[in-house]
Amino acid sequence: MACDLSALSNLDPTDPEAAQRLLDQCTAALTDPSLWIWAIVFTVVCAAVGALIGKYKNAVARDALLGAALGPIGWIISLLLPAHKPAPKCAACGKTVDAGDKHCRHCGARL
Ligand SMILES: [Zn+2]
Repeated sequence: MACDLSALSNLDPTDPEAAQRLLDQCTAALTDPSLWIWAIVFTVVCAAVGALIGKYKNAVARDALLGAALGPIGWIISLLLPAHKPAPKCAACGKTVDAGDKHCRHCGARL
């Protein structure tokens, strides 16, 4: 007896142990190590593809997390999100400034 909906619909209602046996089989399928190895490998591959997308979007961590959490849907979201632009830096001192600033808040140089 397989662990699926057809097994549930074919369950013998007169046998009280049948439901418990089916539940035990489904629980055994969930604890099968090959299922978990497959799931972990799939998650790592999805994160790696997401990180590859993020490399071109300048957001590796963001897109790797999206890929790991959502799989191919996360890849599509990564592709649709705008590229991450790094904060502008002062040409004089090299420190990070806000995008609309006219003068550097660290050294006072005109931006
Ligand atoms: Zn500066």
